Amino acid sequence: MRDRGRILVRGIVQGVGFRPFVYARAHALGIRGTVKNTGSQVEIDAWGDRFDEFLADVCRGPPLSRIDSVEILPLSGSPPAGFGILISSSGTLSGMIPPDVATCGECVGDLFDEKSRYRGYFATSCVNCGPRYSIIESLPYDRERTSMFSFTMCPECGMEYTDPACRRHHAQTIACPVCGPRLTLMDSDGRAMEIGDPIGEAAELLDAGDILAIRGIGGFHIACTEERAGELKARLGRTEQPFAVMVREDALDRMARIGDEDWVLLRSEVHPIAVLVKRDPSAHAAISNLHTIGCMLPYAPLHHLLFARLKAPLLIMTSANMPGYPMITEIDTAVGKLRGQVDYYLTHDRRILNRCDDSVIRDGFIIRLSRGIAPKRTRIDLGPSCILGVGPELSSNVTIYKDGFAITSPHVGHVRNPPTLAYLEETAERIRGWLGAEYDVIAHDLHPSFLSTGYARALAEETGAELVPVQHHRAHVAATTLEPCIGITIDGVGYGDDGRVWGGEVFGGQVPHLDRVGHLEEVPMPGGDLATRFPERMLYGILPDERVLGLLMERGWTDIQCGVLARQVERGVNVAWASSTGRVLDAVSALLGICRERTYDGEPAMRLESAASGGKASEWPLEFVQKPGAEVLSTRSLVRRAFDEYLEAKESGGNQEQKAVSDIAASVQFNLARGIAHIAIHAAHESGLSRIALSGGVVYNAAIRETIRREVEQPGLSLLMNREYPLGDGCISYGQCVWAGMVKRE
Ligand SMILES: [Zn+2]
Ligand SMILES: [Zn+2]
Repeated sequence: MRDRGRILVRGIVQGVGFRPFVYARAHALGIRGTVKNTGSQVEIDAWGDRFDEFLADVCRGPPLSRIDSVEILPLSGSPPAGFGILISSSGTLSGMIPPDVATCGECVGDLFDEKSRYRGYFATSCVNCGPRYSIIESLPYDRERTSMFSFTMCPECGMEYTDPACRRHHAQTIACPVCGPRLTLMDSDGRAMEIGDPIGEAAELLDAGDILAIRGIGGFHIACTEERAGELKARLGRTEQPFAVMVREDALDRMARIGDEDWVLLRSEVHPIAVLVKRDPSAHAAISNLHTIGCMLPYAPLHHLLFARLKAPLLIMTSANMPGYPMITEIDTAVGKLRGQVDYYLTHDRRILNRCDDSVIRDGFIIRLSRGIAPKRTRIDLGPSCILGVGPELSSNVTIYKDGFAITSPHVGHVRNPPTLAYLEETAERIRGWLGAEYDVIAHDLHPSFLSTGYARALAEETGAELVPVQHHRAHVAATTLEPCIGITIDGVGYGDDGRVWGGEVFGGQVPHLDRVGHLEEVPMPGGDLATRFPERMLYGILPDERVLGLLMERGWTDIQCGVLARQVERGVNVAWASSTGRVLDAVSALLGICRERTYDGEPAMRLESAASGGKASEWPLEFVQKPGAEVLSTRSLVRRAFDEYLEAKESGGNQEQKAVSDIAASVQFNLARGIAHIAIHAAHESGLSRIALSGGVVYNAAIRETIRREVEQPGLSLLMNREYPLGDGCISYGQCVWAGMVKRE
């Protein structure tokens, strides 16, 4: 039986209501002493007969906390009269601040409670919910180091803040209509409108068909009703890309098939956008022309209040940004950049210090790691080096490894232009500062001309850190497992060891020694990136056949265009060689007339998947070629089969043709997945390995994923996929860190 001790708690212990939690437990158990944040940990000095019970409670922590370790040191001296929360002392952080958390049920209750002083208040929160990452300037997490500092607490908020019995006890985000952030409705020129009830007015405007920019937790959204989807597309110059929607909970079930797991995620503290299968694939076509639709529930008090007033059951809520650029956070920028796109602005005066997009999840797999999840912290032992992973080019983020933890930033975006690169650098620098990290190693993509590679090189020059290049598809495997395995990576494109375009790869071994033991056939991409934008070029690259040119001419290609394309392929001029899975799917999408021009990343393959969802797959013969050290799946033979079946179906025309297109699409996915799985199975048998790691953006395709799963599990192999990090390129910065750590350990 102990009766005293100094308790040191490490982990995610800031911004999660840890000190109020400790205070409340101390109070209940008659413990005397103090609690404080030191930046890297919570330090509790405690005296009392029920010390052990108190300690057990502390080890459990409040709901949002993540405890890594609890240490108990001896304590001398005499206790204070009661239990007090001390002012934080600053220091670097070994834990991490939590992500922004969706409004909790109790706070939603307050919004609609006649008696609550938070009734109707758009920015209420408590120790269990509300913004964190997006409002934090530096650590430790106290109000003075957040964008709440400019709002001086009124006496009533001050009382709740210091009242241990209150849910807002030491809630750094506490605010009310008297003292907190305020909403303003502005016209299209950014002039504030004199309106008593901006939310009610905004709801009316939306119902009447206006398009609004709404400043949320981590940035601006553009919002409108479903009826205005066409107009919004026209204004944004965005023709095909699906929009995400925010839906009233009671309307969601009618729109999409929602599994129990989806419901849990939708209602979790993350409140992500969940990509769901529509009940009727042709419904909501103006929002999404796919068989899926991205839906989220209201997650901030503002959203709950808006939906309480809206007649429409859903709103399109798309991130406000220029295509390919980071989401807009500042009011001035919004008014400047969104001119002509939105009719009104609903904004508030709390600064957004760290941008944060909505997270996106599909079938429990993370597509975009952001609000509610990131900064993401993973305990992993990568050795003594402090490592920065700068990510690849698309869907990038950064990861910093230090002292047994990898911290991954929220989604940054496609690092293809200077503003997005600047955002990547800022994000890395901010997290580096929080962690007090000094890089020993900087890991980057093998691609020599990525902007992120340039950043890595410049930073290495400046800091003296060592550079470790990491091949893209091996980084995917490293993000999945450190165990010996056969690793499958199927995605769009990545720079290979040989300078060619990889993207349908099978490796064998253990990080950081993965041999390329198989891949898809290397086929020409005529015109390089042009073949990505116009996948009919890819089709001819794979199948350089007169009949393909005939089909293209039927579709309006000129003699000259066809001649140039044919000569490019024949002579190998301006042709890249690719084993990419995405490009094969693109080519088939183009063949079937599903998508002939890509307007957003992944579009042809995603639309192929939608077409295939109504089709019936048949088993086609697979052709493999054994090259030295690697087995190669002939994608040419699959595309040729698809082509022959398509020509036959075209003869029959009408409904028959539609049906055949779906069946061919389903068959291509099915046989491509079987082929890839078989390479992995052969490699597993040869090497005696029993684990198959599967990663890459193509794995989001449910049909392909499930086919691979069935194939590899059938002979008793186990399939590993990462549910903690994206399957797509959002896992790469983490995989780079893992890879580099393992390289350095040798
Ligand atoms: Zn709350
Ligand atoms: Zn107040």
